[in-house]
Order: sequence, then C-alpha cells, then structure tokens
Amino acid sequence: MPYTTPLIELDPPDLSPYRAGNIGIPYVWSYAATEPGPHVILNALTHGNEICGAIALDRLLRAGLRPARGKITFAFANVAAYEGFDRRDPTASRYLDEDLNRVWDPAMLDGPRRSCELQRARALRPIIDTADFLLDIHSMNVATGPLMLTGMAEKHLAFARRVGVPAMLVRDEGHAAGPRLREYGRFRDPEAPQIALLIECGQHWREESATVALETTWRFLAVAGVLSARDAEPWLAHPTARQRTVLVTHRITIATDDFHFDESFKGLDVVPRAGTIIARDGLNDIRTPYDNCILIMPVRRSVRGQTAVRLGRFED
Ligand SMILES: [Zn+2]
Repeated sequence: MPYTTPLIELDPPDLSPYRAGNIGIPYVWSYAATEPGPHVILNALTHGNEICGAIALDRLLRAGLRPARGKITFAFANVAAYEGFDRRDPTASRYLDEDLNRVWDPAMLDGPRRSCELQRARALRPIIDTADFLLDIHSMNVATGPLMLTGMAEKHLAFARRVGVPAMLVRDEGHAAGPRLREYGRFRDPEAPQIALLIECGQHWREESATVALETTWRFLAVAGVLSARDAEPWLAHPTARQRTVLVTHRITIATDDFHFDESFKGLDVVPRAGTIIARDGLNDIRTPYDNCILIMPVRRSVRGQTAVRLGRFED
C-alpha cells in the first residue's frame, strides 16, 4: 500500500510535570468534587506515538479543569514509549515491548509474563477498575476523518450518539491479537452500566487531531455529567454533523509474512462489488464479502497475527 509519513504538525508536550501523579500511579492525576457523581477516566498515549490525546489532557490540566461532581482522572498511559518520540521515526514510539492495547485480559494481567506494557497495565488496572466512563484517545495512520470505536454493546453506541461527535461511529469486536482497554472488565459486559469509547482523532500528528481530541474530551465529560453547566454548555452548543454508524462484519487478520493490499486504499473506501480482491495473503486472495463494503483502517505495515483491515457496512 502506498504510504507517505504525514507531516508532524504537533509538538509533543513535556509531561515531566505530571510524573509524580497524585494517587500513587506515575502520570495519573485524579480530582474529585465534593458532590458525588461518576468517575470519568480520560486516557491518552495508550500508543506512545499518538500525541493528540496528550496535548488535549495537558491543556485541560494546565487550565485547571475540575469536576463539578464525581471524579475526573487524567491518565498518560504509555509514557515510557512516548519519551522516545522521534520526529525522524515517529511510529517507533508506539510501544516498547508490545501493544498496550492488546493486553487487557485479566488472565494475562494476573499471569507471570513480563513486559514494559504489562507492567504499566498492571499499574493502571486499579484505577481503571473504578471507572464509570472511559475515553481512550488515539490517532491513526490513515488520512481519514475521525472515528469513534464503540464495540458491539448497544450501551456504548447510545452514549457515543449523546456525545455527538465524531460523525462516524464504528461498531467493532476488537482484535484477535488481544483485548483492548475499552473491552476490559465491566466495559465488556452489555448489562453493566460502565461505558468505554475509543476515539481515533484522525491521522497521526495532524494539527486537526488535537482539535478533535479536545472537543471530543469536553463533550464526553459534559455528557457524562461531571462538568458544571458553565464548562459544559459552550461545548454542547457547538453544531455537530449527522452521525452514521458502520457495523464491522469482518476483521482480516494477517496470516502470512507475505500480505499485500492490491490497490491504494485510503481507509473508509467503499468497494462497490462483492468479490473484489482487496489484498493477497500468501496464496490466498482476500475479497470483499458483499457490495458496498467499507474498508476501515487498513494498516501500513503488515505483521502476521495483526489486524490488516476491518470490513463493514453502513447501518444507517
Ligand atoms: Zn492507537
């Protein structure tokens, strides 16, 4: 797949002022109001190279944002990887040992295996366990507009519609390689009230991604009910575009070391005809299963066992 590294329009913020944390976990800051209410966790840098979320949280922390009720926790997740951010090879700081967004399985977290990311996930787990609402802030390789990944449970989709942005909502099951943070614990249970959303704020390092991260975060906090009317209303008054929902029906996992996309897909391409070859994986052709199939987040680098692309269709 043709790919050019996007321009790095964003400056990675200095996170050293946040190192100590205030609840005993480095780079995690939690503020509670006297009035009771839900606990909202804003999580940036699950992937160390996706700096738009760090910019949004840094701005809110420096502005002194506090909840009017309940609790807001600001978490910078994979700072160890982020600290290696290098403009000459910005993707390298995605993680150190393994993807922090594939380890959120209780058996793995309780197990004996060790890695930088497992160590960080184990440190974050006690605070994640207390979340009522979680927003996990990411960006993407592909140059498409922002996407909200809601998982399959109706509760997350309903909340994403109340948040009102972005325009594209994606219902998906996650990855074969391991569960994401947004699939951890009670977030996974369709009957439990806990909500977790993953926002892909657009392409990595584009200035627009930080704007999307900030607006989504404000609206998420407002809808969760932890902000004062004065803080919430200006954001909720912003006009929003009509939201559309894509249901992910297939997830193509790379099976060989010889995986290639057959055309230059940008992401969110709609392939009109069923049976169109979109990729080859070793000797196998990967074809679209139905008409008007949408390709969601095709990867730049093919790694066996990882998701290459998700296929979906518009639900509304
Ligand atoms: Zn990410």
